Amino acid sequence: MKHIFFKVITCALFLFCVLPLAAKKPIKALLITGQNNHYWQGSYPLLTELMENSGYFTVDVAQSPAHGESMDQFILDFTPYDLVVLDYNGDAWPETTNQNFLNFVKKGGGVVVYHAADNAFPNWKEYNEIIALGGWEGRNEKSGPWVYWKDGGLVKDYSPGAGGSHGERYPYTMTCRNTSHPITKGLPTEWMHFTDELYDRMRGPGNIKTLLYTASSDATKGGSGREEPLMFTVDFGKGRIFHTMLGHVGPNNDHAAVECVGFQVTFLRGCEWAATGKVTQKIPDNFPTATQTSTQKIK
Ligand code: ZN
Repeated sequence: MKHIFFKVITCALFLFCVLPLAAKKPIKALLITGQNNHYWQGSYPLLTELMENSGYFTVDVAQSPAHGESMDQFILDFTPYDLVVLDYNGDAWPETTNQNFLNFVKKGGGVVVYHAADNAFPNWKEYNEIIALGGWEGRNEKSGPWVYWKDGGLVKDYSPGAGGSHGERYPYTMTCRNTSHPITKGLPTEWMHFTDELYDRMRGPGNIKTLLYTASSDATKGGSGREEPLMFTVDFGKGRIFHTMLGHVGPNNDHAAVECVGFQVTFLRGCEWAATGKVTQKIPDNFPTATQTSTQKIK
């Protein structure tokens, strides 16, 4: 491994500090980042802090070479991990890493697809089956149908058009579509997400396993006018995959979306479920309600 291209940061000191708080062995997670059209330099420390502060996870960070540099050394071994968190949207990984990742997922590994990770790799067939829905990067009707909620169910719309867009940012209501799934059980059926992008017109194979939350994309704010699936699990091999489209992070402290308690709680619950199939985390008292947003800083 050449550290100039690829470094794994193990937060050993922090692990030492939080271990006594955790009732059981922490979940070993690998977070992949290093290229993104978003401010990955800001998102990965926030996600890592969020996960490790919970006491449930230890996080290694796999940071890719910069865009345009050789990716040859970016060979990832997923076998030590229970969970892979995708915060990457950039150059193709080496084929060995692709195959290692697919084997990890097919054998039952846990995956969390975070925000613009669903922009990545528009032409990698299996990756798109792992995310189920994606956007931008040239996606269109050849990528699969638009998938959205209508008349009490998900519809697949094969009409031609671009995949992936969003209007202006605003707080919006998340509506639960499955209240018995471990990730959503006990959470309010409706809660207000703090100001964030609302991904719409996403396209892909659409192999959603369990739809967890939708939100209405406001056409008067540049949205689709549809009820969009924003959080769901994905049907792929034996893998447990949690996809959250929430959590935009940009430069200059533009990370209000990940300070939403609703984002944080669903993200952590999705991480635990993807890794273990269960959720044992308690729901905090400051979870947002149907009428009130709720935020807290991660650091
Ligand atoms: Zn974004």
